[in-house]
Amino acid sequence: MRAMTYRGPYKIQVADKPEPKIEHPNDSIVRVTHAAVCGSDLHLYHGMLPDTRIGHTFGHEIVGIVHEVGPSVQNLSVGDRVMVPFNIYCGSCFFCSRGLFSNCHNVNANATAVGGIYGYSHTAGGYDGGQAEFVRVPFSDVGPSVIPEWMSSEDALMLTDAFSTGYFGAQLGNIAEQDTVVVFGAGPVGLAAARSAWFLGAGRVIVVDHIDYRLEKAKQFAYAETMHLAEQDDIVVALKKATGYLGADVVIDAVGAEADGGVLQHVTGAKLKLQGGSPVAANWAIDSARKGGTVSLIGAYGPLVSAVRLGDAVNKGLTIRGNQAPVARQWPRLMEHIKAGHVRPSELLTHRFPLEHIAEAYHVFSAKLDDCIKPIITIGEE
Ligand code: NAD
Ligand code: ZN
Repeated sequence: MRAMTYRGPYKIQVADKPEPKIEHPNDSIVRVTHAAVCGSDLHLYHGMLPDTRIGHTFGHEIVGIVHEVGPSVQNLSVGDRVMVPFNIYCGSCFFCSRGLFSNCHNVNANATAVGGIYGYSHTAGGYDGGQAEFVRVPFSDVGPSVIPEWMSSEDALMLTDAFSTGYFGAQLGNIAEQDTVVVFGAGPVGLAAARSAWFLGAGRVIVVDHIDYRLEKAKQFAYAETMHLAEQDDIVVALKKATGYLGADVVIDAVGAEADGGVLQHVTGAKLKLQGGSPVAANWAIDSARKGGTVSLIGAYGPLVSAVRLGDAVNKGLTIRGNQAPVARQWPRLMEHIKAGHVRPSELLTHRFPLEHIAEAYHVFSAKLDDCIKPIITIGEE
């Protein structure tokens, strides 16, 4: 089959690879029709994750048609159109039974924090991802879900990660009615978090970034006020001013390890990799939250320590929450919103590339060219 393969930082190639096989009775093989590229894939593409091996196939946002099922699979049949959550999980360990699907204890021998993620290097289990014609789906009875007829494959694709993750970020914010919510990062995840904040009762939503077209999208898609980093001497002071000098009730970091805005942090975090990522956005989140407020961290960071302002977080009495999103938990409510016409997550998809041109998709998304919010890879017929 044809599959995206990693060759080293900033180098990807489409190559021939053997088709995946059923390796366990509860596996299935999905023929991929749509896969998206995530901001998290960009961390891999930039060489930020330590154990990213040559030949690894990325891609954890996957929609496709069930091609083959293992002998114990009961919930899927050949021919079903399915959405696959980005997390791989067993469904029955201590953590899964508490809904912590992204922290499954049985799927990643390489780490004790994160569970398995498709196509996310050997630090997340080493599973090949879905930017390919076929993908092996372990634990098929607990992860993937048949897409209801009324839902488009592109909306379903957005629920496999980005939109559900944004909603989860808003949930982690403990938003109370009329709260002011600040979102750092106007990528697909931040835009989804900003839009979702309204669903959860926010009274005001402010999105911060330094890319004009993305801030424009924040106004249009997330009905948010915006702040441009370059137009403020000090973004924290500006946010304080905008909130009566109290700070925001809830601040969501939807930027993560490669945050811009502080040269020293960016160089030590994102370039030299002396920290588990540049903590600029996380620190701004801590500084711009009000005392007693909540900081929701959904941007991705590596396992190393970063220079995070813990003293301020403690002294302000903040609640800090974070996780990889256990996206299937967000699906029932988000499907209700989509069905009712409250939101069309696929409006965040701006670019479509065939698999053979996936290198261009990474380049355009990474360099934020051509007003790209999120690219989708179209792979096979529905
Ligand atoms: P993206 O790269 O499209 O968006 C990131 C945005 O942050 C960009 O628009 C960039 O200009 C902006 N930015 C950079 N520095 C900033 C700063 N200091 N302040 C404000 N904005 C800044 O990526 P995305 O797809 O939206 O993903 C965002 C983050 O979420 C990534 O770190 C990704 O790995 C992470 N993620 C986490 C989960 C999870 O489950 N927790 C799931 C998906 C993605
Ligand atoms: Zn993702």
